[in-house]
Amino acid sequence: MSVADVDVVVIGAGIAGLAAALELQDHFGEVIVVDASDRPGGVMRTDYLSGYVFERGPNTFQVKAPMLSFLESRGIDNVLQRATPESRSRYLLRDGKLVRVPTSPFGIVTTRLISGGAKWRLFAEPLKTRQDATGESVSEFSARRFGEEVAEHLVGPFLTGVYAGDETQLGVEAVFPQLVAAERDHGSVTRGLLADAVKRRGPRTKAGSYSARAANTSSDGLGPFARMLAERLVHPPALETDVESIHNDGPCWCVSMRGRAGSVRIRAPRVVVATPSCAAANILRGVSSELASGLEAIAYTPVVSVAIGVDREKVRTPIDGFGFLVPRSEKLGLLGCLYMSRLFPGRAPEGFELLQCLLGGARWPEAIEHPDDVLLEQIRADLDATLGLDDTPKVLGICRWPRAVPQPDREHVRRVAGLRQACQPFPGIALAGSYLDGVGLADSLASGLTAARSLLP
Ligand SMILES: Cc1cc2nc3c(=O)[nH]c(=O)nc-3n(C[C@H](O)[C@H](O)[C@H](O)COP(=O)(O)OP(=O)(O)OC[C@H]3O[C@@H](n4cnc5c(N)ncnc54)[C@H](O)[C@@H]3O)c2cc1C
Repeated sequence: MSVADVDVVVIGAGIAGLAAALELQDHFGEVIVVDASDRPGGVMRTDYLSGYVFERGPNTFQVKAPMLSFLESRGIDNVLQRATPESRSRYLLRDGKLVRVPTSPFGIVTTRLISGGAKWRLFAEPLKTRQDATGESVSEFSARRFGEEVAEHLVGPFLTGVYAGDETQLGVEAVFPQLVAAERDHGSVTRGLLADAVKRRGPRTKAGSYSARAANTSSDGLGPFARMLAERLVHPPALETDVESIHNDGPCWCVSMRGRAGSVRIRAPRVVVATPSCAAANILRGVSSELASGLEAIAYTPVVSVAIGVDREKVRTPIDGFGFLVPRSEKLGLLGCLYMSRLFPGRAPEGFELLQCLLGGARWPEAIEHPDDVLLEQIRADLDATLGLDDTPKVLGICRWPRAVPQPDREHVRRVAGLRQACQPFPGIALAGSYLDGVGLADSLASGLTAARSLLP
């Protein structure tokens, strides 16, 4: 079997791998990206059907500082497409009714999402004594600081939206590091956040939710965005190429893979492993069993993402805003529903709306095993109960993600530190991906940049 020599191999062409490769390409000649899939972008996939533009994986993202400077430094920040101002309103289900989420202290005073007593406990947060949040779950931390009702009805649904997770298991140090730091440094979350706001501390970001409109294509969405990034690579990604293992070969790493042309080996002094953690564990088992078992310990939740089109006239509740999330106590199958055609223009034909329904998660992991008709019946029933649906929706796509979102648990921060330590004896190998420092698209991109920079001379 022939062995090619290159400067860097990046395994995985999701957002983390693409960002790592583009960063490394500025410093090294031969940067090769390999991916098991038939297209770049990982979970970023956009589809087009009957005048609808819909996402199969992530729908929107927050623009954080590393992402913003990465795009600006390459002159491609113009691809960012901000969600419409009208989509700012978000809703939570409370006792079967959609209630607008408050965004100001006055809104909190008047909201019916929580009781009067819960509002007092929330505003009394600065009076609570400081405690150590090490090892606490998000629900323990938020109940302790803000009260049980806020934890259940405001914080819990938010975590459903981002992690499809269980707030009693997610670790607060990983999920809300800024709140933990505020309590630690100021004795109160409210005081800490206010102090940061006054000092205007914190990295430069762009407010709001975003998608992308790739400048070199006429297509909206995250699939074209990924393609646009991949097209900036000097060497196009080697697709349908499954990396099997890495082993040490003198001063280099030898990456064994199986692709369209059979088995191939590529030798490089630097390797970025930008796959989900379970794949990284298999790839790196021959390098370090300790590293592999640390990677295997990271749990993921399954998600089913269903895109449907509805006739606007046949929905009894006006579809305005971002969408809604469903707290656990409401006992629906739906985790939430995004009004994608309200966020970004041109996502649905005139007179119709594009809704992205999410099911599964830690709340209903078995959803992924159910046949399409069972899931669609659940969606119909839940949308009828929440929005009032007088029609059969047009089903655009049903996408099952068995390992959709990593679940940072109470030990996550220490587990990730352990992974980085376990990598240290193997210079030239760097990890990237959403299981490290944040599960969002922007966090994954940042993890790719961090991995790339750790390999620079
Ligand atoms: C359904 C869903 C909805 C989401 N919604 C949002 C959202 O709205 N907003 C948000 O910010 N984030 C969202 N996320 C999370 C976000 O999409 C991810 O954090 C991010 O895209 C992960 O990027 P990545 O590059 O780390 O991994 P991935 O995108 O998973 O890419 C990893 C790549 O590695 C490749 N690979 C795996 N094994 C091998 C192997 N052995 N050899 C070669 N290649 C391999 C895969 O083919 C894949 O292309 C969502 C995720 C899912 C699944």
